[in-house]
Amino acid sequence: MDYEITLNSLEHFCFCKYQWWLNYIENEWMDNIHTTLGNIVHSKVDDRTFIENRNGVEIRRSVPVFSNELNLYGIADLVEYDRNKGLKINVVEYKKGKPKDNGDVQDFDGLQLFAQMVCLKEIHKCEVNGYIFYDSIKRRIKLKDEPYFKNLLLLILNEMRQYIKNKSMPPKNIDKHCRACSVYEICLPYIGEKNA
Ligand code: SF4
Repeated sequence: MDYEITLNSLEHFCFCKYQWWLNYIENEWMDNIHTTLGNIVHSKVDDRTFIENRNGVEIRRSVPVFSNELNLYGIADLVEYDRNKGLKINVVEYKKGKPKDNGDVQDFDGLQLFAQMVCLKEIHKCEVNGYIFYDSIKRRIKLKDEPYFKNLLLLILNEMRQYIKNKSMPPKNIDKHCRACSVYEICLPYIGEKNA
């Protein structure tokens, strides 16, 4: 059986594989301004008891989802079950950032969202559409290129499992984004580098 992967770990792996390893394999977590802002955005939909009905559409928040096929599990921020003409599902992931310049969802965001769509399709065997709600523009953007995200998801899952199986810590991805990294103080990426 493949190693279980959590949905929220996908985004961390794409941001920096070394950060993912610290967070999910070594259980090293710290908060910074970016994680705190992200938590604030998620707190708006973090209510497992929330159920609302609007015109035949049932809306639930913080919905547990899983895929046995890909051995994935996690929580979807918001799921809409539209039973007006058979079952059709919309899943919405909340993010504090903004879409790409061309208006599409960011790749890292889309990857996590697509994984939720896979889970819901497997559970309910119906059409599932995915949206990222970007808090900065207060609007949801539909995920369009499903084949692209399917390929990306399978590649990323395979790579993550190789690292776990081999017990091999991935390399650091030292870049401008390190300044926004929640485990910067643990990683100390520029130690030993010139111009640190
Ligand atoms: S500080 Fe940079 S290299 Fe270190 S874990 Fe964070 S993103 Fe990765």
